[in-house]
Amino acid sequence: MRKAVICTLFVFISANMMSQTQVIAHRGFWDTQGSAQNSIASLLKADSINCYGCEFDVRMSSDGKLIVIHDAIHGLTSIKKNTADTLTRLKLKNGESLPLLSEYLQKGTELKTRLILELKKLSTPELETKAIEQIISLVSKMQLEPRMEYISFSLHAVKEFIRLAPQGTPIYYLNGDLSPQELKAIGCTGPDYNSKVFKKNPEWITECHSLGLKVNVWTVNSEEDMQWLIKHKVDFITTDRPLVLRNLLKNY
Ligand code: MG
Repeated sequence: MRKAVICTLFVFISANMMSQTQVIAHRGFWDTQGSAQNSIASLLKADSINCYGCEFDVRMSSDGKLIVIHDAIHGLTSIKKNTADTLTRLKLKNGESLPLLSEYLQKGTELKTRLILELKKLSTPELETKAIEQIISLVSKMQLEPRMEYISFSLHAVKEFIRLAPQGTPIYYLNGDLSPQELKAIGCTGPDYNSKVFKKNPEWITECHSLGLKVNVWTVNSEEDMQWLIKHKVDFITTDRPLVLRNLLKNY
């Protein structure tokens, strides 16, 4: 009897020590009724299905306000050439107004999913620094620091997040052009690269892990790619199909 208990305990501990790939909803969980990419509804829905994290995109309006939106132009309206007042009157596909970052994060305070903030490239490095200072201050006021992760294609932005965010905050680089050693050298948490980059350099996954880096992969929507990445033990998969990924993970 005692042996059986010890054995069960061992299996339980071993299973929990094995890191499993985590699910990140790309632009929130949007491919479902009543949702839309980067909407507050997509954040609520990502949280409701227990995603590890909810990824979303941030841009800056002409008057320096931060807006949650992926594209540089919404309909016919340029984000960087219009004020927040104009932009927040525009609608998303689910009828919601474009959210201010402050509104999005405020909703995040009521939830448990991690907030994976992508700062899109802005016109100048100075504007990116200004945006990051605003983000860090907003997050601090809302006491969201332990739940934030930052990602960007801009190397300047990544370096500024590393400089300005509290130590230990996960910060990933998206552009795919730095090796694991180069990422380690700048103090990055790891790569968050397109799956094609890892298909070309599969050894980067183990190399990252041996350097103490984490590996995130975007945007993985085919089951075949998901399986390949799970088998290669990546830490996170960012997907438009969080439920499909979650179901696949039940087999591992
Ligand atoms: Mg994004």
